[in-house]
Amino acid sequence: MTEVTFSASHGQGRGCVIHRRACFSASHRYWLPELSADDNSARFGPCALSPGHGHNYELIVSMAGGLDANGMVLNLSEVKHAIRSEVTEQLDFRFLNEAWPEFDVAKPDGCLPTTEALVRQIWQRLRPHLPITALRLYEQPGLWADYIGNAMDAFLTIRTHFAAAHRLARPELSQEENESIYGKCARPHGHGHNYLVDVTVRGKIDARTGMVCDLSALQRIVNDLVVEPFDHTFLNKDVPYFSECVPTAENIALHIADRLTTPIRAIGVHLHKVRLQESPNNAAEVYAETPQLEIMPEALQAMATH
Ligand SMILES: [Zn+2]
Ligand SMILES: [Zn+2]
Repeated sequence: MTEVTFSASHGQGRGCVIHRRACFSASHRYWLPELSADDNSARFGPCALSPGHGHNYELIVSMAGGLDANGMVLNLSEVKHAIRSEVTEQLDFRFLNEAWPEFDVAKPDGCLPTTEALVRQIWQRLRPHLPITALRLYEQPGLWADYIGNAMDAFLTIRTHFAAAHRLARPELSQEENESIYGKCARPHGHGHNYLVDVTVRGKIDARTGMVCDLSALQRIVNDLVVEPFDHTFLNKDVPYFSECVPTAENIALHIADRLTTPIRAIGVHLHKVRLQESPNNAAEVYAETPQLEIMPEALQAMATH
């Protein structure tokens, strides 16, 4: 018989991070009055079209703290109320350019309501009410921004995919030895995956455009240097790097990071992370810059002292 001991303190004082998801639908338009119509459309593409277009946004709010006497970091009804009154009630079914004064570009300090500018403004509004440590805002499943309260610093992630075959085997080993290491993945004629690639960049949000970088330039870099050369290939044979190096998920993620670091630096941001998902069951992540890993959000620091 198992004996379960319940603590009378209900975990009081122990630290925990909690997450809450909230959704809203809103429209926006990228248009700056100081630019001509041609310059607006050259810079923002179809996002400059009048009267705008919309997204179903998804917001993930992460909060940290010590548990109270009821075994909770926060009462969920307080969390729901704060997110509703400070964010979703104000933004749902609204035109973002007019919903909050920070997005009024008629004013010289107004900023376009991009995903990264919006997540930062949401932080400013939630921070007085909730012990938030991180916010993530999805504009769509393939584009999201993360913000952790560092001034104008934000993370932007784009997701793309390619289909490719590979074989895991070291050329210097026998078939038997390779199968003992890589199992079925060492079979001589290879097998394939639909790879998902998430590329995260870190940069400063421009006070006027609201952007950390030119999104279409970023998409072009990832497309030209990863999707085009890798899609519908046998990686070991068609990508010269993998004729020498075993194309495990880890090595593919590292090679993608190596290919992207310099070109991404050239558009004014830092490659932060590459995540390569081989199947729903396995993925590899490469952090291309380490300093961010050492950041300890202040709420977590406060929690660590309890
Ligand atoms: Zn949009
Ligand atoms: Zn495989």
